[in-house]
Parts: sequence; structure tokens; C-alpha cells
Amino acid sequence: MEQMKINRIRQGTVIDHIGAGKALAVFHLLGLKNDQTTSVTMAIRVPSRRMRIKDILKIENRYLDPTETAMIALIAPQATINIITNYTLEKKERVKLPTHLEGLLRCENPNCITTALREPVQGKFTVIGDSPLRIQCDYCLTIIATEEVERLFLRKI
Ligand SMILES: [Zn+2]
Repeated sequence: MEQMKINRIRQGTVIDHIGAGKALAVFHLLGLKNDQTTSVTMAIRVPSRRMRIKDILKIENRYLDPTETAMIALIAPQATINIITNYTLEKKERVKLPTHLEGLLRCENPNCITTALREPVQGKFTVIGDSPLRIQCDYCLTIIATEEVERLFLRKI
């Protein structure tokens, strides 16, 4: 049953095992809102053996780069990325939480050197915890928790 859902697109990427209710955040962080030509199917709160309920995102004719995969790991740490070619599952991998984040997010602390300068410096963070997710700014040591990470991502859109 689960396999059927995954294999239905001809080619592209199926992001499976997204935490329930998080598919929309993943959709936004991949910039799919502004991508007028890509077909996307979103399944919200479907039964899952591993997670009880989960979200699924099927993206036709689109593959992810390592940066995108890292961003997905921040929002959906249990997600699996399935590469589909000719209706066949070609490759399946779990997302991996990066140990370091560079340039993806900006620190929120107004006194942080990365936000205080006239030309803001790229944010740099160290991942200090994975469940729940916590990241720490390398410059001012401000700690950002899961919900805030999501909010920062969605604000960038
Ligand atoms: Zn900072």
C-alpha cells in the first residue's frame, strides 16, 4: 500500500516520512510555490507504520541537491528521499542532519555580529541536538529550537 503511493510518479523525487503537518513547510523551503511548471502531490497525515502518521511530498521531474536535503533534515529529520525513474524506485536514502549549517539561515539575535553589520554576514550554526532539534549560532552562541528554525525558513520565502 505504502509502496504504491511512492511509485506512482513517473520520475522525480518522493519525500516520504515527513512529520505530520510538515509537508507544507518542506514545499515552501524547496521553493515549489514559485515553480509554476513542477507538479507536486502532497499527502497530509497518512497512516505510517514507522511514524503512525506522516506526510508525503511527490515532486515530478525534480531532484534535490545536498543543500536542499540538509534543509529538509532540519524540518523533517525522519524523512526519506526516494528517487524515481520510469516509475521505479532507483535510490532511497534517509536525510541526514548536517553537523554544521552555513548560509542557510540568519541568526535572530539583533546584537549578533552577523545581523549587526551593514552588510550582513552569512549565518553559521552548529547542530547541538537532533531530537528535539537545536542549533547554535557560531558567533553569538544563541540557541535556536525546532519551531524557531521552521519559522526562520518560512520567513525567508
Ligand atoms: Zn548569532
